[in-house]
Amino acid sequence: MTLPTLTTRTVARFTDLSLPDALLQNLDSLGYLAMTPIQQHSLPEILKGNDVIAQAQTGSGKTAAFAIGLLLKLQQRDFGCQALVLCPTRELATQVAGEIRRLARYQENIKVVTLCGGQSIGPQIGSLEHGAHVVVGTPGRVHDHLRKKTLSISRVDILVLDEADRMLDMGFIDAIENIIGHLPHQRQTLLFSATYPRSIRVLSERFQHQPVAVTVECTHSHEHIEQFFYHVEHADKPAMLVKLLKHYQPESSVIFCNTRQTCKAIGTELYEAGYKPVVLHGDMAQKERDQMLVRFANQSANLLIATDVAARGLDIENLAAVINYDLGRDPEVHVHRVGRTGRAGKKGLALSLHTRQEQYKLDRISDYLKAPLVFGDPKTLTGNRQPALAPMVTLAIDGGRKHKVRPGDILGALTGDVGIPADKIGKIHIFDFTAYVAVKREIARSALNKLGAGKIKGRKFRVRRF
Ligand code: AMP
Repeated sequence: MTLPTLTTRTVARFTDLSLPDALLQNLDSLGYLAMTPIQQHSLPEILKGNDVIAQAQTGSGKTAAFAIGLLLKLQQRDFGCQALVLCPTRELATQVAGEIRRLARYQENIKVVTLCGGQSIGPQIGSLEHGAHVVVGTPGRVHDHLRKKTLSISRVDILVLDEADRMLDMGFIDAIENIIGHLPHQRQTLLFSATYPRSIRVLSERFQHQPVAVTVECTHSHEHIEQFFYHVEHADKPAMLVKLLKHYQPESSVIFCNTRQTCKAIGTELYEAGYKPVVLHGDMAQKERDQMLVRFANQSANLLIATDVAARGLDIENLAAVINYDLGRDPEVHVHRVGRTGRAGKKGLALSLHTRQEQYKLDRISDYLKAPLVFGDPKTLTGNRQPALAPMVTLAIDGGRKHKVRPGDILGALTGDVGIPADKIGKIHIFDFTAYVAVKREIARSALNKLGAGKIKGRKFRVRRF
């Protein structure tokens, strides 16, 4: 399979495709006018009914590309499952389901159900009993439902494998094969993957029919990312990490490690050095994971330590730096990690530690980037500033979606009656039974008092600093 690199400078609009007017209006209301490159190249093929294998990363607009394709295939009156999207993690599945629902607003009554592990299966079964047009889920849990016969996918018309490389990394191949065994032979299969290792090509050959390959120009354009590599002896890595943080003092950084053990160990090291990192790793309960992500996304924690798998679906705007405590296993992983900084035209910083034994990885990264690497001199790391406190503080409210609490209610409770100025309030995240609001550190106490003393939606909720 050869992957043509498409170079298109013309701006293509959704209106260039023959899409229903109501869908176009909805896209317009979402602010989607020009297609992103991945949409421009994959959507026409998807609409023709072709199988597509696309190289696309989070942030490329890939979700809308396959979501539009699958929505246009749905028979609204038929409540049987017609589209199945498999994702590696619950975060990604939740994001994908959200995007499909937003895009489906132009049609009435399209039901999208998410089926992910880490959540009780009972309510999922209840939800499936009422039918679902689209199922978005992780392979393990979808497989569980098939075994229990609580889900039928025998009439699915379109299968999407999203972030297929991560699903394989996470060991989902058996579950995926089993799921595909329950699908009709005659179907459309779309495969999206950030990287193309051999296992992905094999997956495509086995389960796709004459796929059209799409990859967009310069997924690794790193012009606005400053990238430095630091040589270090293995035993000195923790100390070097602290030196880098003291010297560069990035406002927010993700630190990548290759194993969860290293993540935990580095979390402890940094904590002892006075930092307050949050650590994401695979064997964390979902609730704890959500809390960590919220604290990082709303800027009340400025360091996040994660493995590649744990960082899946993490879509943080304005990430000042990516630090590779361990180099990734291949150059594509490296580039994918580094591409999380320097988004939306902002400047980014990427710092990577490497040991002598990892010279081959450096050579491969350099080949991949088609550029020489820039090596930093540890002796120049003279900055010695103390760890900065994160600018925001999270307040946790014991009320959430199930109590019909919405972001506007929390905002209103904080700002009402000559309360907290709105510009001191940051992101608000609402879960089923809890909500988190970020406020500027300097007004955290008064915000806590105000929320604790007042009412939200006419009710009193317990509020605590988190
Ligand atoms: P994704 O790569 O699918 O995670 O999408 C990244 C972000 O881009 C999401 O927040 C989408 O809502 C947004 N998006 C997708 N397509 C477009 C578009 N054509 N124009 C503007 N924003 C878009």
